[in-house]
Amino acid sequence: MDDDDLHPLLKAYEGLPAAVAGAGRDPVNTPMIRHWCEAMGDGNPAYTGPAAIAPPTMLQAWIMGGLSGHEGRAQAYDELLGLLDDAGCTSVVATDCEQEYARPLRPGDEVAFDTVIESVSRRKTTKLGTGYFVTTRTDVRVGESLVGTHRFRILKYAPASTRDRASTRDRAPTRDRDRSRKSEEPPALRPRPVVNRDNAGFWEGVREHRLLLQRCAACAVLRFPWLPGCQSCGSPEWDTVEACGEGTVFSYVVLHHPPFPAFDPPYAISLVELAEGVRMVSNVVGTPYDKVRIGMPVRLEFREYDDELTLPVFHQVSQEVTG
Ligand code: ZN
Repeated sequence: MDDDDLHPLLKAYEGLPAAVAGAGRDPVNTPMIRHWCEAMGDGNPAYTGPAAIAPPTMLQAWIMGGLSGHEGRAQAYDELLGLLDDAGCTSVVATDCEQEYARPLRPGDEVAFDTVIESVSRRKTTKLGTGYFVTTRTDVRVGESLVGTHRFRILKYAPASTRDRASTRDRAPTRDRDRSRKSEEPPALRPRPVVNRDNAGFWEGVREHRLLLQRCAACAVLRFPWLPGCQSCGSPEWDTVEACGEGTVFSYVVLHHPPFPAFDPPYAISLVELAEGVRMVSNVVGTPYDKVRIGMPVRLEFREYDDELTLPVFHQVSQEVTG
């Protein structure tokens, strides 16, 4: 079917609970923190000693159900997954998670949580197959106070047939085969950027064809990519400056493999040093991949890849002066 008839049915589950009144299996505790830090190779002194806090990214560890799972899994979530199973989306893969932290957790804290189905995407076709991204949001509390939020996204999908997958996996990136693929399928779109609270201003700038750098309001150090705090002095206060658009190729790699949809290897990925001194990963467009060179002067342009996606890219500045 071409119309995404299933999506409205799935969307009706947005806002319904996926887990109610969950409780952490154990209080926040020193042994788990120590094992985590050892596994991660994280020697931060904040995580040891009498005033220790738990590493913020352990948020999910405190709410995991273990092999036996949790009480309180809500019917709505099972129904939603059942609908997807019935539609042939029988496979699942976890794609990503996002966390926000309201305050640190400390040994002895007892966490409770609720999980809602936050969103169900429209039908998407990925290399694995066609399906729907389902995002759940878990609010983690100690007592009445929110300590953090954990968003977890899965792709529930109908696996591409074994033959399709084999042909994708083994596909040599030859022009002929690309062309035959393209005649059967709509062209793949570039991946969407992940826009969040910390970088939304950057993408707003891009929409207005302005490349905005963050500038620390305390020490004036510029930074890119966008971050919540200054890497030099730690200040969370910042404003922005617009890059003039001049730069040079600081480094580059040429990607031959693996092939990704919407990209046509080989191509060069460049680390461009802007005139302002910060560096960004981008593409040099209009120059063959084997002609990109370190030190090449480049200038910013904004390229519209599709109706929804504009990206800052760079083109080589001609060495000849015309005029
Ligand atoms: Zn600073």
